Formats: sequence, C-alpha cells, structure tokens
Amino acid sequence: MIKKYAMPLAMFAIFETVAITLWLTKGNPFYLFNFSYIGASVALGVALFIQGNKNARRVTQLLVGLYMLVYLGLICQENMQIEGFWYYLFTGVFEAATIHYAVAKIFGPLVFGRGWCGYACWTAMVLDFLPYKVPQGPRRTGLGWIRYVTFAASLAFVSALFLAHVGNIERIMFWAFIVGNVAYYAAGIALAYAFKDNRAFCKYVCPITVFLKPMSYFALTRITCDHDKCIQCGKCRRVCPMNVDMLDDARSRENGTECILCMECVKACPKKAL
Ligand code: SF4
Ligand code: SF4
Ligand code: SF4
Repeated sequence: MIKKYAMPLAMFAIFETVAITLWLTKGNPFYLFNFSYIGASVALGVALFIQGNKNARRVTQLLVGLYMLVYLGLICQENMQIEGFWYYLFTGVFEAATIHYAVAKIFGPLVFGRGWCGYACWTAMVLDFLPYKVPQGPRRTGLGWIRYVTFAASLAFVSALFLAHVGNIERIMFWAFIVGNVAYYAAGIALAYAFKDNRAFCKYVCPITVFLKPMSYFALTRITCDHDKCIQCGKCRRVCPMNVDMLDDARSRENGTECILCMECVKACPKKAL
C-alpha cells in the first residue's frame, strides 16, 4: 500500500518541506497553509492517477487553479501573473509572486519540468475544457517570437510604473491581474478555436514559457520510452496536446520543452512502454 502510493507521498513531503521551511524562515503561517494545500492537491491527483482515475489531472488542476485565481488573486489580491513577479522583484521582497515563480516556474521545473502547466495553471484550467484537446493540425512554425513580445511587454509595463514613480502601484497590480486574466482567457479561447488546438496560447503566446522552456530542458522528471517494449504503433504521438516526440529520449527531442507531463501518452500506450 505504502509502496503503491510512494510517489504521491514523496511529492507531499517535498511540498511540506517547502511549506515548513518558508513558514519558519519567513515567520508567516500563510506559507505553511499555502504549500501544504498545493502539496495535498498534487498528491491527491497523483494518487487518483495511480488508481486509474481518468480525471486525476483535472482534479489537481481545478483544486490548485481555482485556489490561485479566486483565493490568492481575487480575494487576497496578490498578482501572481508575470507582472506581479516583476513588481515584487523590483520592490526587492522575496514574497508572494517571487516565491511562486521561484518554486513553480524557475527552479521547480528543474525537478518537475512543466508540471505547473499540466496541473496548476488557471489559464490552462479553462482552456483544457475546450473541444480541441488534441491539436487538429500540425504545429505552426514561426510564431514562437510572440512569447518574447508578451514577456518584454510585461516587463516594460511594470518598469514604466516604477520609472514614472506612479503612486499606489499595488492597487494597479490588482487591476492588472484582472485585466491580464481577461486578456489571457480571451486570447487563449480565440486561438484555441482559430488553430483548433486548446493549447495554442501556451505554445505561441504565454510569456511564462520564456522561463519554463529553458529550465524544463534539464528536468529530472521526463517521459522516456522503453524501446524494447515499444511496437511503434504511434498512439502516444496522436494524443499529445503539445506535439512532443516522446519516442525520442534525447533532451533535444522535438518540442521536448513543451511536455506538460499530462500523461495522456502514458495512458494511451498499449505496451506500457512510456
Ligand atoms: S504555457 Fe502559460 S498559459 Fe499555458 S499552462 Fe503554462 S503557464 Fe499556463
Ligand atoms: S502526452 Fe506525454 S509527451 Fe505529450 S505533453 Fe503529455 S506527458 Fe508530455
Ligand atoms: S504508444 Fe507505446 S507502443 Fe505505441 S509507439 Fe507509443 S510508446 Fe510505442
């Protein structure tokens, strides 16, 4: 029993270590609650996956995504989007969005790759309900530059607020969170229908991928293929939402830094080769 659930227990233990460390070092019990909640949500999703529950990932995605969007974003008024990260970085405090980015999007991906994108992001939480779970066409080339524009725009926006000595930036950050999310959802849904691909926004527009992609290149947690078992049926490639070539074990494999660890390929494999 314990062996079967070793993975979710280990994941909960990792989050709990972060929770207790931040609680004791920052002297703020919020961190104990926050990371314990997220750790429990992730562990629950992994445990459900082990039990064969088809909605395991969605459970975690909704538990974490709604918590961050509604509780942290709307109720606590913390801007957890990239503008919030720049804001806290410029103010020089290691709080809220800076901790969130450090754990989930900058250093965390060295361990769990783009698990954030598969299990926690509140933008993808909505996009994943749209009809095109598997892209209906090949990946578009030549659009990757858009993410650098949105990344630079977010940095320029917050820099301009500081350079102009605008008052009450904290309040502006709250409204930036509202407007930013509305814009992300609108663009994400429009692109999903235009490209017949739920994750088009993730692939071409999301500025956070500027952090996520290079860091996840070195991720410890990766999908790899046991080529002795594989019969080259191609079912795994057909269900991947991110166009990853998971049959190639090299880190430089096609769209390797796009893997969101959704496990659709693993579920689809008839030979348990992944
Ligand atoms: S790429 Fe961006 S929008 Fe997509 S899941 Fe990741 S963080 Fe969310
Ligand atoms: S289907 Fe497999 S390779 Fe594709 S994103 Fe999901 S886990 Fe990664
Ligand atoms: S689904 Fe499994 S057996 Fe088929 S190609 Fe993929 S890894 Fe190989």
